[in-house]
Amino acid sequence: MNYVFEMREIPAVAVAGTEDSFPVHRIYCVGQNYAKHAREMGANPEREAPFFFSKPADAVCPEGARLPYPLATENFHHEIELVVAIGKKGTHVSASEALDYVFGYAVGFDLTRRDLQGEAKKKGRPWATAKGFDNSAPCSAVHSVGEVGHLERGKITLSVNGELRQQGDISEMICSVPEIISSLSSFFEICPGDLIFTGTPSGVGPLKRGDSLEGEVENLDRLHITIV
Ligand code: MN
Repeated sequence: MNYVFEMREIPAVAVAGTEDSFPVHRIYCVGQNYAKHAREMGANPEREAPFFFSKPADAVCPEGARLPYPLATENFHHEIELVVAIGKKGTHVSASEALDYVFGYAVGFDLTRRDLQGEAKKKGRPWATAKGFDNSAPCSAVHSVGEVGHLERGKITLSVNGELRQQGDISEMICSVPEIISSLSSFFEICPGDLIFTGTPSGVGPLKRGDSLEGEVENLDRLHITIV
């Protein structure tokens, strides 16, 4: 194949405890999946099917990244999330079989230009510029199911400059991981390499240049980035 310019490397995240990489196919995100966060966003956290938005695969960036404050925002927010890494292809996956499709789990930040999101919501427009921008998906190494098993509960926290900002437990998710996979696979063929950001607990807030973020999900890594 003769490409008209050099092909970019496939975006990838590390696989914890190995020299291997997990090549990223797509990034899907679930909106408002913790009741307290849905309320802080002015929504009513009713039990209903999850809703999805996406980010480009090359929005991933690794542990330790130093990220420039993004373009076009004056209200840049942090969201800490449990990330599910998919390892098997499927459509119409039932919730009872969904965990068979999981390769592993990681810690991610769904970085958000909240001002652009607010405007998009008001005008009924897509969230692409609010959510799918450059470097908007920092992600830790993926821990394989063989290493950590499946995660049903565990603390999820985010600190900025050492100060606790977000705190919850992944057992508080409105839609569980199997329900999310089942629903997502009714809209898209899920594929090895897909990452699913599963929603954030309450306490989201603004970031500024110089801020150091540390996110943690119990039994997984810490994810640390700096805004420059
Ligand atoms: Mn989110």
